[in-house]
Amino acid sequence: MDIHKIRADFPILETQVYGKPLIYLDNAATTQKPELVLRTIQDYYTQYNSNVHRGVHFLSQQATSAYEDARKKVTAFINAKHTHEVIFTRGTTDGINLVASSFGRKFLKAGDSILISAIEHHSNIVPWQMICEERGATIKVIPVNEKGELVLEELDELLDETVKLVAVTYISNTLGTINPVKEIINRAHQQDIPVLVDAAQAAPHLPIDVQELDVDFLAISAHKMYGPTGIGALYGKESWLNQLPPYQGGGDMIKSVSFKKTTYNELPLKFEAGTPSISEGIAFGAAVDYIQGLGLNNIQEAESQLYSYAVEALQTIDELRFIGEAKHRAASISFLVGDAHPFDIGEILDKQGIAVRTGHHCTEPIMQYFNIPGTVRASIAVYNTPEEIDKLVTGIKKAVTLLS
Ligand code: PMP
Repeated sequence: MDIHKIRADFPILETQVYGKPLIYLDNAATTQKPELVLRTIQDYYTQYNSNVHRGVHFLSQQATSAYEDARKKVTAFINAKHTHEVIFTRGTTDGINLVASSFGRKFLKAGDSILISAIEHHSNIVPWQMICEERGATIKVIPVNEKGELVLEELDELLDETVKLVAVTYISNTLGTINPVKEIINRAHQQDIPVLVDAAQAAPHLPIDVQELDVDFLAISAHKMYGPTGIGALYGKESWLNQLPPYQGGGDMIKSVSFKKTTYNELPLKFEAGTPSISEGIAFGAAVDYIQGLGLNNIQEAESQLYSYAVEALQTIDELRFIGEAKHRAASISFLVGDAHPFDIGEILDKQGIAVRTGHHCTEPIMQYFNIPGTVRASIAVYNTPEEIDKLVTGIKKAVTLLS
C-alpha cells in the first residue's frame, strides 16, 4: 500500500493544529473521511436529494437505488447471506439497543440472564442492564485478567441455563484486546445460546465473515470505518430477525395500518422506522468501497506492523506503563505515564498537534478493574505512519519533563 497516496485521500490530514501538523491518533473514537466519502455526500445533496422507498419520481428512485446499493456493499463486506439481514441503524449503540429491546421483550423473563464481558464498551452494557431491569433478569460477566484478556476457563460454567444471550466485543476500544469471538460463539452455540458481537472496533481493522463466525447478531458503526456519523449496520440471522418484534414504530416499517390492526413490513424495513440517514447510508457504501479498494488483508497487515512499531517505541519511555498487554491486540494502545494524570498528558500532546484520547473511553468497569482513573489512548488507522508514532514518543517524553 502506498501510504502517501492513502494520506492524500484524506484532506483533513493537511490540517495544522496550534501551527503544528495534525497527528491524528484518536481513530477508535472516529476515523477521518476520505475524499470519496465526502464527494458521495456532496453528490447526493447536489444531484439527487430525495426521500427513499416511497417516491414514484426520478430522484426518489435514484436515492433509493443508491441507498439499497449501499446495503448490498455492507452485506458483501461482512459476507452476510442476504441483504435483508442487514439493518441500517444509527450506529453500534443503536444496533445493540435494537437487539436488547426486541430480544429482551420477546425472550427475557425473571430469573434469566445476559452474559457480557468485563471489557465491554458502555453501549454493550447499559442497554442490557436496562432491559434486564425491566424483565427481572440479570447480567453476568466473563472476567478479565491483568493482561486484558478474557478468562475463558470459566465460560462453560457461566453458560448455564439462565443465559439467554451472550454479548461480547470483538476488539476492545480501550485495551486493543482481540477477543476469540469464534470460540465464544462455538461454546455458546453448544448450549443453544445466541451471540451478539460488537464489531465497532473490528470492522475497520480485520476482515469479518458473519457466516464463517456463525454469529447471530453483529453491530458496526460507519464512522469508525472512514464513513459518516449517524449510520451503522446491524447484522442479524434471518431466523432471529423474523422472530423479533419491531424496535420502533413509524413509517416504512409497516405493511398496512388501520386503527384496528397494523401489520409489519418485511425485513429489513421492519426494523427501519422513519426516514433514514440517506446521504450517510450511501456514503457508508462509499466507505466500504474505499476499504475494499485498499483490501482489508492489506490494511490488517500494515496496521499490525505499525501497532508493533508503536508498542516497541513506547516501551523506550521508562515511566510508561501499558494498560492491556493481551497476546492478540490491535488498533488501540492504552497507557499511563508515571504518576501523571492521563488528561495532563493528553493536553500536552494536544499542544504539539497530537490528538489522543484520555479518560475511561466509555469502559468504566475496565478502569475499576485496573483501579485507575483513566488512560491515555493512542489508536491507529490506515493513514498513520511510523514518523507520527516517533512524534508521539517525543511528545510523551516532553510531557514527562514538563510534569516532573
Ligand atoms: N462498542 C465499541 C467497542 C466502541 O468502541 C464504540 C464506540 N466508541 C461503540 C461500541 C459505540 O459506537 P457508536 O458510538 O458509534 O454507537
